[in-house]
Amino acid sequence: MIEMAHSHESETELPVLTTTVEKMVQWARRSAIWPVQFGLACCAIEMMAIAASRYDIARFGAEVFRGSPRQADLMIVAGRLSRKMAPALRRIYDQMPEPKWVISMGACASVGGVFDNYAIVQGVDQVVPVDVFVPGCPPRPESLIYGIVQLQQKIDRSRA
Ligand code: SF4
Repeated sequence: MIEMAHSHESETELPVLTTTVEKMVQWARRSAIWPVQFGLACCAIEMMAIAASRYDIARFGAEVFRGSPRQADLMIVAGRLSRKMAPALRRIYDQMPEPKWVISMGACASVGGVFDNYAIVQGVDQVVPVDVFVPGCPPRPESLIYGIVQLQQKIDRSRA
């Protein structure tokens, strides 16, 4: 929370902002979430839509999809995760610097969806720690944006 105070040093009162370093760090982190460029199935098409002009996730500071996990702090698992792909997903997650967050997007990523079989991981939280689950098949871009806003609020509540 940023508070307004007034300086009485000068004749003309100048507004002074007071805050804490922790709140500045939280604000900076949640206002510039950079997702790693990574999609698994049909949900990824809806994920791509959030970066385009109709939904424009730039309004929330999260439009900079990075080609390298080393430059990203958000993994959006968009689509079903096969067991064969799971080690690669975990490696990408491990290559992301701390602090980092994960959104599980859609029914397949969250619980396997309709693919209740041996080939599909029945929930990506078995492979990486998930911060926000977004329901739907596929979730609409608005749902994913809501999930990102929920993540921003979670970062706001966390300790820097
Ligand atoms: S939840 Fe639906 S849209 Fe998303 S990957 Fe699974 S089948 Fe495709």
